[in-house]
Amino acid sequence: IASDQPGNTATAFAANMDTRIKIKQDMEVALRAALSNGEFRVHYQPQVDLETRRIVGVEALARWVHPQLGNVPPAEFIPVAEHTGLIIDLGRWILRTATREVAGWATPLRVSVNISPMQFDFGDIVGDLRAALEQSGLPPGRLCVEITESLLVAETSNATEKLAQMRAMGVSVALDDFGTGYSSLSYLGRLPVDTIKIDQSFVRGLPEDLEASAIVRTVLMLSESLGKHVIAEGIETQDQAWLLRLAGCRTGQGFLFARPGPAEEIVAILDDEEADRLARDLRS
Ligand code: C2E
Ligand code: MG
Ligand code: MG
Ligand code: MG
Repeated sequence: IASDQPGNTATAFAANMDTRIKIKQDMEVALRAALSNGEFRVHYQPQVDLETRRIVGVEALARWVHPQLGNVPPAEFIPVAEHTGLIIDLGRWILRTATREVAGWATPLRVSVNISPMQFDFGDIVGDLRAALEQSGLPPGRLCVEITESLLVAETSNATEKLAQMRAMGVSVALDDFGTGYSSLSYLGRLPVDTIKIDQSFVRGLPEDLEASAIVRTVLMLSESLGKHVIAEGIETQDQAWLLRLAGCRTGQGFLFARPGPAEEIVAILDDEEADRLARDLRS
């Protein structure tokens, strides 16, 4: 039952257990141990300029390598970490690790970190951000926090106030998975965010799905007139990249460009880019 294959691990916990409660309890115990045992990693997925295909930023994504089960997908463990409140410690660790690693790279990239609503409700997210920036030396302008619509809808945690404090520090805010939640298009202009991330479910439908195409075009047009940046998520084909660029989207993220990988892997890609640039300069 133990497996290193990502595809099998989603059910690896379930396969052993009789009840859902037992699964959750076991996962919770394992998650608690995982943080102190150093079983978490941060992987990075490049965000590229759709015109030049150069890397302009990375998204930090949590990875858990369980000693017996192998890789456990975030879709499995993040919800449990949120339920148990463990996401506050885990989220702080990810924030610290991601800012420290990216600050050490030769190329000055922006790093985006996913922040759970729990971290706004029960943690000191603004304090955590400030501490991570101080400890890493990363300029605030190179940090972006990714939030979801549910945070803005609930409005139980002074989220708007905290987002304003972050933005005053120079940190930018991106709205993740846009289109899957509750926000109507007319609400877009009032959202306290700098960037909209078009959810991969819309990108997946391109170019055939006319409804997805219409939504993507509308979001791009509206965002531009409202002065918001747009990142398209989940780009897997050249057609999708081309169509998005044609529709005015400047930045994209997806398996077409690069899968999430450990810091060493991203640094190697950046080194290649730099070598290409030098070679081109020498030729001209
Ligand atoms: P997300 O923030 O929307 O992250 C993008 C997800 O899409 C990642 O999955 C990434 O690997 C995947 N992806 C990227 N490009 C493609 C593509 O071209 N095709 C397909 N099919 N998928 C693509 P991942 O790493 O499994 O993370 C899933 C979700 O778990 C994230 O969605 C985010 O909501 C959550 N998550 C991951 N890391 C963290 C974290 O550190 N903190 C919190 N709070 N949530 C996290
Ligand atoms: Mg995200
Ligand atoms: Mg997303
Ligand atoms: Mg998501």
